[in-house]
Amino acid sequence: MTKAIIETGWNFDNSYARLPESLFSKLNPTPVRAPRLIMLNEPLAAALGLNAEALQDDDGVAVLAGNRIPEGALPLAQAYAGHQFGYFTMLGDGRALLLGEQITPKGERFDIQLKGAGRTPYSRRGDGRAALGPMLREYIISEAMHALGIPTTRSLAVVATGESIIRETHLPGAILTRVAASHLRVGTFQFVAKWGSRQDLRTLADYTLQRHFPEADGEENRYLTLLREVIKRQAALIAQWQLVGFIHGVMNTDNMALSGETIDYGPCAFMDAYNPDTVFSSIDSQGRYAYGNQPPIAAWNLARLAEAMLPLLHDDEEQAVQLAQDAISEFAELFRRHWLAGMRAKLGLLNEEPQDESLIDDLLAMMHKYRADYTNTFRALTFDKPGETVLTGTPEFESWHALWQKRRTDQTEPMTSSHQLMRNSNPAIIPRNHRVEEALEAAVNDGDFSVMKRLLEALASPYAHTLEQEEFAAPPESCATPYRTYCGT
Ligand code: AMP
Ligand code: MG
Repeated sequence: MTKAIIETGWNFDNSYARLPESLFSKLNPTPVRAPRLIMLNEPLAAALGLNAEALQDDDGVAVLAGNRIPEGALPLAQAYAGHQFGYFTMLGDGRALLLGEQITPKGERFDIQLKGAGRTPYSRRGDGRAALGPMLREYIISEAMHALGIPTTRSLAVVATGESIIRETHLPGAILTRVAASHLRVGTFQFVAKWGSRQDLRTLADYTLQRHFPEADGEENRYLTLLREVIKRQAALIAQWQLVGFIHGVMNTDNMALSGETIDYGPCAFMDAYNPDTVFSSIDSQGRYAYGNQPPIAAWNLARLAEAMLPLLHDDEEQAVQLAQDAISEFAELFRRHWLAGMRAKLGLLNEEPQDESLIDDLLAMMHKYRADYTNTFRALTFDKPGETVLTGTPEFESWHALWQKRRTDQTEPMTSSHQLMRNSNPAIIPRNHRVEEALEAAVNDGDFSVMKRLLEALASPYAHTLEQEEFAAPPESCATPYRTYCGT
């Protein structure tokens, strides 16, 4: 009997491959020895128009492992540059390959990228591979970010390669299938500005406009509009990071997507106790990418984008610089507005009052002083459980709490609306570092994926506030060595 062939549903277009050739290198993934599907994101597969069953059979897994090129795909590594910790350098996909752009049944376009698919012309000294632990980590955190309502690249699958890779020790290798609105980065513009022609730069800008900001097409200065729209999206994105205590860890300009999605989950982590100086990344010794620095760093990165775009903004260089500076100077205010709106929601404030900023600043100052857990302080306020925050009993908190209560009851809307707003704005859980590590250890060391699956389930509805989520909400027991995340994974 012949097995019925189920169509996987790959439906590729390859618009990136139609850009100037200097922007990419066409090449196939390097096959791996013994692919084994570890994770498959079924809801995401369905949204992409892919058949989850077909993705799990041998041919389906072979595609996710880079061993088989699906029809219509045109694998390529993208060239880009970037400022890494402030220093400009040539980069490019050193271990990732774009298979193509999946056109979904709704007509949306998503990059399908294999991360860890082998060496490319941009690999420098790297091996082109990725380890299982960090790829599962990206899977967990990107999906948690998505569930929190924060724009992000997503994770379709993780395949173990059956090969070991060498880092400090031998580690099991893996490939992550990353799904993104696009992989256009600030660094893509930097690359073309530095090494491409002016025409290439215009082509790239037109492509970015078409892909992410099609409504700007008829604008008088559409390239200025592009810059300003990217700035707007980043202001909104970084505000969302700050509001949930997310620390990206390596905000180099090559890790900033023009689509406004969070991209490149390397040494990222969520903050437990509130402290603007929090840094997790082992390579960020100066604290350049500390929690509190993320907004100004985003503005700095956007200034690098503006610089790269200067020739497009105006024929007269001085005027181009002026336009760029004006656009960049809007970031701080845009960010502040998003952040304030988000903080008001976290405190159940349905309207705006001039004293709100000091109410928010005072709360954060207390949280900093008493090392209060960021997420759980807002949870305690939401559910009116003062016993669950270390702030309770401090003189500052008692007077702050009275002011806040008065501010809430003075609103015209009923308290139930305020409470509902808080429930919807303060997550029950975030992917706490110790929980993520526990899940990864079970998966990588013992081949036990049940811990990770339970964690993913709890993280899938962060605003549900269910009983099952309680156990995941506890902060780590304080320990002497601070949590560290590692790059070059
Ligand atoms: P990241 O810090 O992950 O954004 O990576 C910075 C650059 O290093 C990018 O160009 C990556 O493609 C490249 N890279 C990271 N890991 C590897 C690896 N194992 N092999 C080759 N290139 C890599
Ligand atoms: Mg990167």
